[in-house]
Amino acid sequence: MKQQPGLNTLCVHAAHAPEPSTGALAEPICLSTTFERNADGEYPRGYRYSREGTPNRSALESCMAALEGGIGAVAFASGLAANMAVLELLESGERLVAPREGYYGTLKQFHDYSRNRGIRLEVADLCDPAALESATAGSARLLWLETPTNPLLNLIDLKRAVTRGHQAGALVVCDNTFATPVCQRPFDFGVDLVIHSATKYLGGHSDVLGGMVVVRDDAAVLERLQAWQRSAGSPLAPFDCWLLRRSIATLTLRVRAQCRGALEVAQFLDAHPAVERIFYPGLASHPGHMLAATQMRGGFGAMLSVCIAGGGEAALRAAGRTRLFTRATSLGGVESLIEHRASIEGPGTRAPQNLLRLSVGIEEPADLIGDLEQALG
Ligand code: PLP
Repeated sequence: MKQQPGLNTLCVHAAHAPEPSTGALAEPICLSTTFERNADGEYPRGYRYSREGTPNRSALESCMAALEGGIGAVAFASGLAANMAVLELLESGERLVAPREGYYGTLKQFHDYSRNRGIRLEVADLCDPAALESATAGSARLLWLETPTNPLLNLIDLKRAVTRGHQAGALVVCDNTFATPVCQRPFDFGVDLVIHSATKYLGGHSDVLGGMVVVRDDAAVLERLQAWQRSAGSPLAPFDCWLLRRSIATLTLRVRAQCRGALEVAQFLDAHPAVERIFYPGLASHPGHMLAATQMRGGFGAMLSVCIAGGGEAALRAAGRTRLFTRATSLGGVESLIEHRASIEGPGTRAPQNLLRLSVGIEEPADLIGDLEQALG
């Protein structure tokens, strides 16, 4: 039997080979907006006009399909644009079930979209099996999952949620941004569509905005997403596709190193008297640890949150003193970030006022711990 290539091999080689006409190893960036027809009017090389497709976009999409193990992927100009493509599968009157603890931007988008399009949105705590059960009791068109959740790092049981979602007649979608295909493979649990904010770990260097939808096996859904990509008219530009494909070559190396660093940082913070509470699925004390160990087979991720003793002021003071952790929103880059989540989410946030979210980069864990030690005082 032919052996399946490992993740690192796929990251380097999927949809990537030396360019045939020159032998260049680095993928060329093809900026052309238009492509030549043959004398008979046909387009034998597959490209016509760059809104519809470009070689750099094809390479990125094929690579992501290979990494997640799906039949195809569709690239968009941001994570929220990728969400929007999936929302377009809904017809007026249909039901969308979404996780209460999901990324606040996703939930805001769902509320706005549902209100405008007559979609029946139900937001429930899908980390709680009883709430998952009741939210999926009726029929639904889409069941949206995000695990671990942003920023509280709660876990949704993928196997259970897929069973419930399919019983309700729903397509099951999982936002895999936090875990990446390195830590978690939602298609192994029967999830139908995987979403990424490619802005985070796939890009990995805080310099490109992008989003991906990957389809497990439904060719008709893939075609609808591709049709939306063409008609929405805001494709991911060739340079952005190139940046993402280039960064994905080191995705496994980066994410594995970040996960190791995050565990060390989490263990340090867990024992620190200034930390009131810590949220990291890699710690045995995390309520979702056992579940994480079974469904995040490649690692527990590199995101963690802490509640600081002394309230919001104390949390802001600690964030104000870090030197290696940069105070900035977003996540998944090579550099570590720290963020006071409630103030970025604004009114209505579910993040406690004393919560700081950390995105652990690839710096030496001992240096990151030293930085947090001096910041926490
Ligand atoms: N999904 C998750 C889990 C996120 O954290 C984010 C952004 O932070 C998004 C989706 C949206 O992605 P983008 O900012 O690329 O639109």
